[in-house]
Amino acid sequence: MIFDTQEQKIYHARHMSTRIVIDTRDFVNFTRSLHGKIKLNECIRLKDYLADSQGNLEYIINGILDRNDKPMLQVSIKGELNLNCQRCLGKLLHELNLKSTLFLVENEKELSYLDEDESVEGILATPDMDIIELIEDEIILNLPFSPRHKENDCSTKKLTDNYTAEKKRPFAALLELKKLH
Ligand SMILES: [Zn+2]
Repeated sequence: MIFDTQEQKIYHARHMSTRIVIDTRDFVNFTRSLHGKIKLNECIRLKDYLADSQGNLEYIINGILDRNDKPMLQVSIKGELNLNCQRCLGKLLHELNLKSTLFLVENEKELSYLDEDESVEGILATPDMDIIELIEDEIILNLPFSPRHKENDCSTKKLTDNYTAEKKRPFAALLELKKLH
């Protein structure tokens, strides 16, 4: 991959893998585009949600200005994830095909205004945004709340298990909300 002067390549000491960092304002102002692959096992936070972390994800990130000159990042992520079925706890293949538009904002106040509108997503502008973390956040935000096999593919069909899974989820959801805010 070729890196121009605005982008840097840094090494994450603990994992010795390549981290890619962008300056979000420059990225938008110069309408840059970044296309690449990341290994699922580099996605440290996402791992908690997965049955295993084998495989790759493909991403495209575009910096653009919309019709009203509002800066934004367009993020597309494709790949396959193995989640755990909430009914039988077995592996469940989840096809990922995410497309998000993130409005770039300058401060927390702007961000909280955006948060009031559920149809738009905002992100704080920063000179050193870690691409892997950005991708992880987008995936985690968009994961199915209670992934399950289809009735006939699931290894457990007992009503009692269904009941337990339903009972646990509200708390899991609350915890996830706390982590995000
Ligand atoms: Zn299942």
